Amino acid sequence: MATVDQAAAELQPLLRGTYVDPSARDYDEARALYNAMIDKRPAGIARCADVADVIAAVRYAREHDMRVAVRGGGHNGAGLGSVDGGLVIDLSPMKGVIVDPHTKTARVQAGALLGDVDHATHAFGLAVPAGIISTTGVGGLTVGGGLGHITRRCGLTIDNLLSAEVVLADGTPVAASPDENPDLFWALRGGGGNFGIVTSFEFRCHEVANVIAGPVLYDLDDAAELLAWWREFGPAQPDELGGFFAFLSVPPGPPFPEELHLRKVCGVLWCYCGSEDDPACLREARAFGRPLLDGVGPAPLPALQSAFDAVYPPGDQWYWRGDFVQAIPDAAIERHVEHGAAMPTWKCTMHLYPIDGAASRVAADTTPWAYRDAKWAQVIVGVDSDPANAAAIRQWCIDYWEATHPYSMGGAYVNFMMDEGQERVQATYGGNYQRLAEIKSEYDPENFFRINQNIRPA
Ligand SMILES: Cc1cc2nc3c(=O)[nH]c(=O)nc-3n(C[C@H](O)[C@H](O)[C@H](O)COP(=O)(O)OP(=O)(O)OC[C@H]3O[C@@H](n4cnc5c(N)ncnc54)[C@H](O)[C@@H]3O)c2cc1C
Repeated sequence: MATVDQAAAELQPLLRGTYVDPSARDYDEARALYNAMIDKRPAGIARCADVADVIAAVRYAREHDMRVAVRGGGHNGAGLGSVDGGLVIDLSPMKGVIVDPHTKTARVQAGALLGDVDHATHAFGLAVPAGIISTTGVGGLTVGGGLGHITRRCGLTIDNLLSAEVVLADGTPVAASPDENPDLFWALRGGGGNFGIVTSFEFRCHEVANVIAGPVLYDLDDAAELLAWWREFGPAQPDELGGFFAFLSVPPGPPFPEELHLRKVCGVLWCYCGSEDDPACLREARAFGRPLLDGVGPAPLPALQSAFDAVYPPGDQWYWRGDFVQAIPDAAIERHVEHGAAMPTWKCTMHLYPIDGAASRVAADTTPWAYRDAKWAQVIVGVDSDPANAAAIRQWCIDYWEATHPYSMGGAYVNFMMDEGQERVQATYGGNYQRLAEIKSEYDPENFFRINQNIRPA
């Protein structure tokens, strides 16, 4: 194991980027994660400027027996983008995005954030389907799966991955695609950061520039009725209409009317990404019940995908749990209504994201994402800016999860998990776990990449 001074002296000259160790002025800034509940102190952070830096950092860590964490956007809820006492291979300086409008593809470096991709693709009227907050990293989101507003029409992010460039556990750079290292390519599409460090992704883009979208919010007393209606209505709609159900508190600022600020509500955030100006499905969706607020209107997709950024800046306390859901029986609705009403702080929320439509028309073994028959990915999110509320948001989240988990399919989206143990990881990959373990033993037999939702070598 290298000493801190030795690493600074030996690794820095090998990098075009910078090496940050605990003596550096910007160490605290460089080690901070999006989730402030997690406070890790790495031995050093290699801020990689290019693929050569990534190779050098991997080789250095191997030679000196250092534990390694890979950091893209630093958004991982469980803090898997950092490691106590080890080396963080930080890809955040690598943010390049090149769009080819002729082939409708985008080559994205692994340190890019979702907002970087939206910015680059939107200029061409194109989009890569990904997540709903622009500061999330493309790296972690993609290797876990990737779901968001346009999933029903365009599929998961992994369904749009065409190829990747990867640095393996021994420092070798390789390509992964249906033609080159196809096993590795299969595993990267949902198997997390277990198989190597992706340095760039090639995505298929879709012609989605503007959407008609926004929240329709209701009184909490309407939650049971709304959820019972939405569970039938949503899956019956054309793929162009997505809408996730949420419990939330109305944010205390514009554009929300003052009389609703901080009121606990339920609602659906609708997003229509088709070509009609006034689609019947969205008209029908908005006609349901007696909304407190209807904020649906035309918007550029990047505006929608950054609409929550101000509410959820980096540095809040986060604790979340997820599940895949195929049906929401009335008994589950009762549990949702009870726990949704008990959100302990105003940033707490619960979302049920639709993952049917295009995402469900992929076979369960085409990628590691085993739950193609799930209709929704549920996430219960305890959030607050005050560390004094950390225990309360965590407990609320766990209580809510324990009450609704029995109605779930057993596994969860890996990117909506905390550190919940091997059983949960195995449940998440279901019938695909064994193949993942075999590919792991081929590409990373010593489990060098283990700061992740870990798949142990077979
Ligand atoms: C506010 C917020 C909103 C979110 N919204 C969505 C959403 O809408 N849709 C969705 O699908 N998910 C969403 N997520 C979950 C998100 O996908 C995960 O948190 C994901 O891990 C974030 O990726 P990152 O690169 O920012 O993470 P990091 O913390 O940087 O990395 C996490 C882990 O990902 C792996 N990893 C990262 N980059 C690479 C790489 N280049 N090669 C190999 N492995 C890598 C590593 O194992 C690493 O430990 C959201 C998360 C937050 C906090």
